[in-house]
Amino acid sequence: MNRAMRNAERICEEQQLQLTPIRRRVLELILERHAPIGAYDILASLKKGEGALAPVTVYRALEFLLEAGLIHRIDALNAYLACESPHDSHVGQFLICRDCQRVMELDDDVISEIVAKRARAAGFTVQMDDIEIKGICDACHTRAKNKRV
Ligand SMILES: [Zn+2]
Ligand SMILES: [Zn+2]
Repeated sequence: MNRAMRNAERICEEQQLQLTPIRRRVLELILERHAPIGAYDILASLKKGEGALAPVTVYRALEFLLEAGLIHRIDALNAYLACESPHDSHVGQFLICRDCQRVMELDDDVISEIVAKRARAAGFTVQMDDIEIKGICDACHTRAKNKRV
């Protein structure tokens, strides 16, 4: 078992949450991918394994993992990503590559604080302050540059 999964087990234990076999399997799939994975892909992968699961079961598992802070949802891609630092509950800032759809997570409290402060000043209550920033990753940038030469 890898470090990320052991970490997830510990977090669930501390929060007295139950990492059932289905939740564990869904988390495994998300961890394996190292890139955002959509619910549809998760369902398809599970079908290849030990029997199909109802979509609602998978969505519930995703909901659980989100609430436990083990994964993030990337709205722009309609996909899920394992959290890189699940030990402390946080909102993330995500750098999303438009070319390869890889996502990097920044975990910068300063950014969140500024957003919350400015929003408050505008009389706005923030409920979801995950920030999704789109652009081009280093690898795609290099690839594009090499193509041009
Ligand atoms: Zn995170
Ligand atoms: Zn890229």
